Amino acid sequence: MDPVQKRIHELMSEIIDLRRDFHMFPELGFAEFDTAKKIEQYLRNLGYSTTRMADTGVVALLDSGRPGPCLMLRADMDALPITEANNDLPYKSKNDGVMHACGHDAHMAMLLVAAKVLEENQDMLTGKIKFVFQPNEEVAGAIELVEQGVLENPEVDGVMGLHVWSQIPSGRVSISPGVVMGGLDVFKIKVKGKGGHTGYPHEAIDPVIAAANIIQSVQAVQTREMDAQNPIVIMFGKLAAGEKSNIIPEEVYMEGTIRFLHDDPDDSQGPTKRFIRICESVCQAFQCICEIKIEHENIPLVNDENMVDLAKKTAMDVFGRSDIIDAGRYIASEDFSEYSARVPGVFIFLGCGNKEKNTDIPLHNPKFNVDEDILIKGVEFHVKGALEFLKEK
Ligand SMILES: [Zn+2]
Ligand SMILES: [Zn+2]
Repeated sequence: MDPVQKRIHELMSEIIDLRRDFHMFPELGFAEFDTAKKIEQYLRNLGYSTTRMADTGVVALLDSGRPGPCLMLRADMDALPITEANNDLPYKSKNDGVMHACGHDAHMAMLLVAAKVLEENQDMLTGKIKFVFQPNEEVAGAIELVEQGVLENPEVDGVMGLHVWSQIPSGRVSISPGVVMGGLDVFKIKVKGKGGHTGYPHEAIDPVIAAANIIQSVQAVQTREMDAQNPIVIMFGKLAAGEKSNIIPEEVYMEGTIRFLHDDPDDSQGPTKRFIRICESVCQAFQCICEIKIEHENIPLVNDENMVDLAKKTAMDVFGRSDIIDAGRYIASEDFSEYSARVPGVFIFLGCGNKEKNTDIPLHNPKFNVDEDILIKGVEFHVKGALEFLKEK
């Protein structure tokens, strides 16, 4: 065991205590007030000065005093509106209807202890490390921090992040180049027709048949317009129309999501523009008026090739060659993409699935839990990744 590993092993119970405390008192996005205070307290006890961003975000800087680049390490802070179903857990959520079901409790604990170990080892560093505790990951909070200048003063040269992943067995890590998580646009559509009697449809304009055709036709974006190797998932999650069986309604309201792994700068249309074109054309064909609102939630998360190499080199030491896998791409999204779109970044997936410990339950499930044995691996990855980045440049 090397000295860094040895130190992290000594801190194992501290990591677990931190994680369990965050787990017991989860808070929703942009309401992480107590969570932020705990993070500040821990960092200040280590001698860091901290600043707030977007109310509940916490940023701390480790400056080695020697010239060199700046690496940003990021953990997300928010929990989900889920009632925890892990009834025999001694550290089950005490905040009713709120749960750390996405492992962000583990992310914060790992990054805090990494900040401790890196502070103790700062004579091994050149340059700076920016520790960023980011609120509201589940609803694209990263962009707020970017707009408030998290990547400046000092300017960030590289960014690393990780997510615990229950679909990957404990002890393994997935590191992949290119697009690793999807983009997400949310659409809200009103299809407006002209109400009337269902016995006399020729005197009305039926928005229901137009809406039904939209739902069918937009699937052609995936099956006919895009390369089949660039998957897209278009789903309608909400439909609302009408009052009574014999009345043609005035309008149909629809909401849904467009998820894509598409990251082709040469495609001037992109999946969402193609989607809009089809909606508008179908509406026109059925003499309806179409109102579409698009909310761009997340852009695809793209890993930088050099940062992937650095992450793999680090993981060789932390996990060993045989435990590094390439699990490929996930179409769910993650707002870490806002950082990695602006500076070279890498986002890795830390396996925490263990059937015997019931930690192979999917993320966002009321029974989700983390195999705590992997937390030291996450800390070690943060620490050694930072040492490697600030040594190499
Ligand atoms: Zn999540
Ligand atoms: Zn998450």
